[in-house]
Amino acid sequence: MAQFLMRKQFLMISDNLKQVNSRIDSIQSNHDVQLIAVSKTRSVSEIQEAFDAGQMHFGENYLQESLDKISYFKGTGLVWHFIGPIQSNKTASIAENFDWVHSVDRVKIAKRLSDQRNPNLGKLNLLIQVNVDKEETKSGVFIEQVDEIVSEIISLPHICLRGFMCIPQAENSTNSFSEMKNLISKYPSLGSLSMGMSSDLEVAIENGANLVRVGTDIFGQRSYN
Ligand SMILES: *Cc1c(COP(=O)(O)O)cnc(C)c1O
Repeated sequence: MAQFLMRKQFLMISDNLKQVNSRIDSIQSNHDVQLIAVSKTRSVSEIQEAFDAGQMHFGENYLQESLDKISYFKGTGLVWHFIGPIQSNKTASIAENFDWVHSVDRVKIAKRLSDQRNPNLGKLNLLIQVNVDKEETKSGVFIEQVDEIVSEIISLPHICLRGFMCIPQAENSTNSFSEMKNLISKYPSLGSLSMGMSSDLEVAIENGANLVRVGTDIFGQRSYN
């Protein structure tokens, strides 16, 4: 019985992945799109099932729960993206365990990540989180502050600034995605735009997203957030 359930779940995650990948492929765009499977709250065995189906990039929000998963998959070539809020006392562990950080919104955090990155690991890829709709409850810098933060962190030695990330208001996402597209066009050296989730990845890609972060449509509903 248990075996049957596991098999069923395996089929489910791989089928979901196929569907999400074909949604991505159905959008006409002149850029490559990397799917990030958001695995917060998910177990090692769920990640393993996605990995077996060919998924290589995973996103985590909470440092504590991510560390065991990352160490379990060490040496497999999985690529880990930190996409949650960052407390400054957690930066050393983030710098050591992740390949990408999407949620930087303070110079101080970027400096700590750069200082604490082991140069042998290569540069840490970094995105600035933009609070595109100026929501009080969300992290991120306002669009007007982007220029200043870019100029302060772009030359830090052990990070590679790649671009921007946003989590727009659901009702307004088309507009917000297009503002982000406009924003990144002003920075020819930055090529990465992390936006689009389960419900709106198509519109995000149409507006230039090349990193999409999908949880629910791959793994099913989360039981906590
Ligand atoms: C949880 C989360 C996602 C995935 O959202 P789904 O709606 O489950 O696809 C994407 N980005 C961030 C920052 C998240 O916290």
